Amino acid sequence: TTHLVWLRNDLRINDNHALYAACRSNSAKVIALFIATPKQWHSHDMAAKQAEFIWQNLQDLQQSLAQKGIELHLAECDDFSASVDVLVDFCRKHHVDRVFYNYQYEVNERQRDAAAERVLFDNDVMAQGFDDSLLLPPGSVLTGNREMYKVFTPFSKAFVKRLQEGLPECFSAPAARESGPIKDVSPLKPFNYPRESVDSSLFPVGEKAAIARLREFSQQPVTHYPDRRDLPALDGTSRLSVYLTIGVLSPRQCLYRLLKEHPRGLEDGKVFVWLNELIWREFYRHLIVAYPALCRHQPFVRWTRKVAWRDEPRHLTAWQEGKTGYPIVDAAMRQLNSLGWMHNRLRMITASFLVKDLLIDWREGERYFMSQLIDGDLAANNGGWQWAASTGTDAAPYFRIFNPTTQGERFDAAGEFIRRWLPELRQVPEKYIHQPHEWAKKTNQKLDYPVPIVEHKQARQQTLDAFEAARKQM
Ligand code: FAD
Repeated sequence: TTHLVWLRNDLRINDNHALYAACRSNSAKVIALFIATPKQWHSHDMAAKQAEFIWQNLQDLQQSLAQKGIELHLAECDDFSASVDVLVDFCRKHHVDRVFYNYQYEVNERQRDAAAERVLFDNDVMAQGFDDSLLLPPGSVLTGNREMYKVFTPFSKAFVKRLQEGLPECFSAPAARESGPIKDVSPLKPFNYPRESVDSSLFPVGEKAAIARLREFSQQPVTHYPDRRDLPALDGTSRLSVYLTIGVLSPRQCLYRLLKEHPRGLEDGKVFVWLNELIWREFYRHLIVAYPALCRHQPFVRWTRKVAWRDEPRHLTAWQEGKTGYPIVDAAMRQLNSLGWMHNRLRMITASFLVKDLLIDWREGERYFMSQLIDGDLAANNGGWQWAASTGTDAAPYFRIFNPTTQGERFDAAGEFIRRWLPELRQVPEKYIHQPHEWAKKTNQKLDYPVPIVEHKQARQQTLDAFEAARKQM
């Protein structure tokens, strides 16, 4: 018999549920397939950097699988619909009896998988899906009324209780097949997708590098996480999202490693603050399954559909390019454009600025982030944007509006992060780094830096009025 592992967002050999299940039988021949779908990726606004990172990690995975005696095949077609045909043809050609795959939870992905299962069944191929990219499967953490939680904190409490009752299983990497390692692997062709390089010093490729980073972070840095996580000038967060998003690392590996280093990590405490972030990741994934409309650009809070967003392309471009005249916002956007990654505090500040200071539709921001982020993930990105826009699940009322200047003063007090990304402000003294034009005026200097494109106080009032008007309409 021949078993096929259909790889998607699970590019690893350790703790890969589908791979583990496919290898359970010693006698089966096991092969793996990844199908690139560039047209679909374009329509999902996938960042070129993310595609590049997937491709690089596939190369690494190809080597690890070859050592296990498993050949990795790479195919390419336009979109998900065509990928079903490619899959079925592949199964026919390679006499595949069973297909093993890990679930993805977004709407298009689920439709593709349902179609694939149907067609495979018609072709006498059995397909089996697994929950894999989460600690606990969607639908397994519910309120007393058997509903999905609409607010994070009670979800997190119920989630931890479930974990205390029993940890999810972590699967080891499969043993090498009896046929022995594959010696000659042919190089994988690059995807037919725009290419952009990824900074390998920040995001080294491969499972070993991801595990090494997890190990290192789980020792000391995680205990400093609560004090350092909000300061973008520091390297205070794990930077593991890039691996978690494309499945080079699993959240179970994170949980087990953390508990190995800190056995009481599930109880409240410093270590739990980080674990709670992983639970945010779970929350948003559970949410898109309970409310699939979230995958279709719908706000969670209905009345916010009525907000009259401003159509102001010049402002949108200034925001995208990091030229708003608000140093913390601009430095953050330049970090995003350059690295394909942005610090969480800054994602909150820049998202708030686009929505609450420029009154631009959050979906514009969601799309732009996706087009740039290596860790772009529909559930987390949508959750983050809807949180920032006050259109989402969480209890952030629309009248809570970040002041971009004071946010900068609070989280980058000395302007260290700002100077790193805005060379044009390097000579501005610390006292004025968040309002550089005041300094320029005082000292009669010319700054090669835009004046603020909106005045915060006025913009804030305009947003309050727009939300208030929308709420009255419902
Ligand atoms: P750490 O602080 O070390 O956190 C550990 C892990 O927990 C992360 O790797 C991530 O998997 C998860 N996590 C942390 N915070 C969140 C959160 N708020 N929501 C969901 N998961 C979280 N995260 C993405 O992975 N992809 C996205 O596309 C994405 N878009 C975002 C957009 C906005 C507007 C906002 C406010 C947040 C977004 N986030 C997204 C969440 C968060 O900013 C990133 O996960 C985090 O910055 C990644 O850095 P890290 O790995 O060092 O995180």
